Amino acid sequence: MATGAYKAVSTKRTPQSEPILGKAMVANSAGGFSFAVDDWKRLDRFLVLGAEGGTYYIGEHKLVADNAQAVARCIAIDGVRVVNRVVEISDAGRAPKNDPALFVLAMCAGTGNTETRKVALDALPSVARTGTHLFTFAEYVQQFRGWGRGLRNAVGAWYSAKTPKDLAYQAVKYQQREGWTHADLLRLSHPTPASEEHRAIYKWIVDGFVGEPYRDIPLVISAVEAIKKVDNKHDAVLIITDYRLPREAIPTQWLNEPEVWEALLQDMPMMAMIRNLATMTRVGVIAPMSDGTKKVVAQLADSERLRKSRVHPLQVLVALKTYEQGHGERGSNTWTPVTKVVDALDGAFYAAFGNVEPTGKNFMLALDVSGSMEGGVISGMPGITPRIGSAAMSLVTSAVEDNTVTTIFSSAGTNFSGTKSGRGGWGNESGISTIDISKRQRLDDVIRKLSGLPFGGTDCALPMIYALQNKMKIDVFAVYTDSETWAGSIHPVQALQEYRQKMGIPAKLVIVGMTSTEFSIADQNDAGMLDCVGFDVATPNLISDFAKE
Ligand code: CA
Repeated sequence: MATGAYKAVSTKRTPQSEPILGKAMVANSAGGFSFAVDDWKRLDRFLVLGAEGGTYYIGEHKLVADNAQAVARCIAIDGVRVVNRVVEISDAGRAPKNDPALFVLAMCAGTGNTETRKVALDALPSVARTGTHLFTFAEYVQQFRGWGRGLRNAVGAWYSAKTPKDLAYQAVKYQQREGWTHADLLRLSHPTPASEEHRAIYKWIVDGFVGEPYRDIPLVISAVEAIKKVDNKHDAVLIITDYRLPREAIPTQWLNEPEVWEALLQDMPMMAMIRNLATMTRVGVIAPMSDGTKKVVAQLADSERLRKSRVHPLQVLVALKTYEQGHGERGSNTWTPVTKVVDALDGAFYAAFGNVEPTGKNFMLALDVSGSMEGGVISGMPGITPRIGSAAMSLVTSAVEDNTVTTIFSSAGTNFSGTKSGRGGWGNESGISTIDISKRQRLDDVIRKLSGLPFGGTDCALPMIYALQNKMKIDVFAVYTDSETWAGSIHPVQALQEYRQKMGIPAKLVIVGMTSTEFSIADQNDAGMLDCVGFDVATPNLISDFAKE
């Protein structure tokens, strides 16, 4: 008996319910042990993935609070570095939503040391690029400080630094959010007008037109006032066309007219176009072979414009998913999707990631399809669970690499809630299988394929075990997961060591984290492992650079 007692503890094989001997591991939310990512990595996860909607295990409020604690620790160590990171990720359009960046910037502006606060307020125009962003920042910043002179000056500078043309457009297009309006912010910040045009715009924002239009007012504002008085469609269309009015400036009575949407479409910003595809289809501007369809398809194929307008692939994915189903979330609005537009959205999804360099390496793209990957939503985006998000992310790599195998895994045993999960799919034995995904398959088909899979427990060691059992030659395992692994008898990193040793291949492991928790199955001290952030636009290229090293 004595010898047996010592045989169960090893550095080579440790159940996931225990930490590996000698490694600093933390208990994850599922009862297993994972590595913890450091606060800086967590900052990146938060900036890209946000915490809206929480995860399968962690409620929204707790997830936001946990992330804010990590951000606070980063600010205490190096607040300027935090601000720089916020600017870097926000300005490059790497995140699906800008709200986490605005929130972290507000924390820096309120809780940082003198230098951090100054740098944060100086960065306001780079992070709050639209009126809506500015209103959101105004709301968040109050959670951390008062409206002192530094903050009022920074908001005032936001207005002063814009050209009259840009400022007029901001005032017309972004009118209010979070209970804030431009009039509120101008009253608070009281900027000295940088020009006579600025003076006229401020006066219009605060008072509207009293009597005659002001001298020096930009034409777009005169046009906004003029279209309010128009009583026929023809004149409305003329004003929209001549002054390039955005949708927000159009009185609602004209928003069911195809001619009005045709006029709007001529100068519609990319994101507005993507958001209004359903409406334009419903009113008939987008129809098989119509000019509207041709215009939309051409725009979506313009990868340069996509990147410049910071359209995020996740926003394209949401648009694709909604558009192709032909009805809104509540089902009251319906339209007949035009296939050309669905295909163009599919193409735009990949283009929005920019160019990804193929490496020629052998990849296993392993998707965690356990129960928890169906809980919560990425960035608060409706319908985009971590499971769907990871499938979409993996397609970006499988589309550029020639040598990929995609697997889906979920442990067969009992799942987290204690119920048997062997129904359908894998039966009670194998928890991993390859899934046939073709490069020509459209995104929504792949998602449908994955949506019907059974749920199960989580064992992130399965990809490496499977590859070893089947003698597959893999250079890079890319595992898309929330890292809440608990069900296996060996840790993922140990299964990787065994694979490397027995196959004689120095295989690498990339973890694509799909939630903003602190957990990772990658050992940060192993140079052959990389932890990156799901749905960061930069991730596919990070994976390819890492694979080439
Ligand atoms: Ca899980």
